[in-house]
Amino acid sequence: MKNLVEDKRTELINKSKSADNYAKNNQAKGKNRYERRLHSKVQKSVKELNSIDMNKLFGEGILDVNLKVKGETGDYTVSLSFSNFLNDLHDQINKGTGKLELRFIIRALLTAFNHADVYVHCTCPDFKYRFAYWLTINDIDYIKGEQPSNGKKIANPNDTKGRGCKHILLVLANSSWLTRLASVIYNYVNYMEKHYQQMYADIIYPAIYEREFEEPVQMDMFSTNELSTDKDAIDISNKWARTKTQFKPGNEYRFTKSETNPDQISVDELENPNS
Ligand SMILES: [Zn+2]
Repeated sequence: MKNLVEDKRTELINKSKSADNYAKNNQAKGKNRYERRLHSKVQKSVKELNSIDMNKLFGEGILDVNLKVKGETGDYTVSLSFSNFLNDLHDQINKGTGKLELRFIIRALLTAFNHADVYVHCTCPDFKYRFAYWLTINDIDYIKGEQPSNGKKIANPNDTKGRGCKHILLVLANSSWLTRLASVIYNYVNYMEKHYQQMYADIIYPAIYEREFEEPVQMDMFSTNELSTDKDAIDISNKWARTKTQFKPGNEYRFTKSETNPDQISVDELENPNS
């Protein structure tokens, strides 16, 4: 049974804030998983974000992303999925300049992340043995196929340990990684526009602007109905963007606080979207 109320990221966080503590001898770095999350770090490299399924993003508006988290005991991958990105992006573009800009992607991601149902998964043992069972039952686990046997719920018999391991709670409670993700998407769109104009015209442009691309299109050498979305294509688009000027210091897309330009988004605002 799907519990709609509990699927939003704030609900998952709230349920985890009041969850069971760790055992008494394991509380030095935080009593429960929510407190303990700050001892892990989301990897900063944009390269870690290159596994986005661009076909799903521009076809269905669903963002599936894998984030590498450096934990206290090892490196794990938190997978996250949420929908409604394209609708929110379209709203942002219409309210703004009518053209795709990096800040519109950031705001659309943030809006979708805050308001859409979110699905989560982590590769750590804590998730597997204490959360996978209950999150699958509640339709919150992103990877349904990994549902553990009933026996494994013994480590969390009454579902009292919150809605995720400390790595998931770290990713859910912190949205600064969305700015890096937005850059990856922005680079990809610009790269495709320059180098794969037909795919851009057929798939990406209509998804972003909700209308047909009307200018003459140069045929791609290898035309298919699928976007180039493997890691290589996304890596190449990021390298390509780094050779251009838009992400160098001093440009308008540095996410620093600015008194003079109210349109600029700061990391502070991203962390506190309601402030
Ligand atoms: Zn984990």
